[in-house]
Amino acid sequence: MTSEAAVSPKPMAASANHMKSGTKADLAARAPLVTLRNIDKTFANGTHALDNVSFEVRQGDFLSLVGPSGCGKSTALRLISKLTAPTSGRIDWHGGAPAAGDIAFVFQEATLMPWATVWDNAYLPLKLKGVSKGEAAPLIEEALTRVNLLKFANSYPRELSGGMKMRCSIARALVMRPKILLMDEPFAALDEITRFRLNNDLLELWQTYDWTVIFVTHSVFESVFLSNRIVVMSPNPGRVFKEIDVS
Ligand code: ADP
Repeated sequence: MTSEAAVSPKPMAASANHMKSGTKADLAARAPLVTLRNIDKTFANGTHALDNVSFEVRQGDFLSLVGPSGCGKSTALRLISKLTAPTSGRIDWHGGAPAAGDIAFVFQEATLMPWATVWDNAYLPLKLKGVSKGEAAPLIEEALTRVNLLKFANSYPRELSGGMKMRCSIARALVMRPKILLMDEPFAALDEITRFRLNNDLLELWQTYDWTVIFVTHSVFESVFLSNRIVVMSPNPGRVFKEIDVS
């Protein structure tokens, strides 16, 4: 395994507040992107996962869904990405539903193809869209550069640390140039130092690409560090307990 420090020579960002400070006014003024209205979700086995959940995500938000395991955070994310449908309630996209490719999902497991190199893993979504390797090359180079993995382009997942695998997974999302990034506890399995580096790098990417990020975590620290808005959820069934504007 390669050490995470070896691929992250950059100094860490001064702080999340520093990273976010220039955009506070902008963020407050930005238009709503998607609104969840009175969402209820009961699974086929009878589990009442979400009860009357409502919240709004604005353009450019870094919004964290935080709460204990089982409070419905992942279910809310899956509803937004249309991987599952609500039992009742509505999800309104202001300005029309996002096109395919506008939303990218990053999971806790990096879910890389073990037989493919870092480059080929990053290429996969473009390959599925029918983009040739030649056309994809500049996009992949930019994505791998952004996540500090370019010199590991020919490495295989087994040769990477956990943090590097996650960087590769983020690069795979980056190549699609998404507008909205959904992240489901992406750094939960990583050690604290690697996690902190990736938190910093993610903030930089968020600013660079002007993404809207919806980030699921059970870490209050991580949510405060990263987000301009936090939706705190409570379990049994999942409800919105509190909304906090960090900026
Ligand atoms: P969190 O992300 O906050 O840990 P989840 O959204 O994963 O919570 O789960 C909320 C509740 O819904 C949990 O009780 C979980 O067991 C249940 N659940 C999640 N997905 C399914 C499913 N596909 N079928 C049945 N129950 C589910």
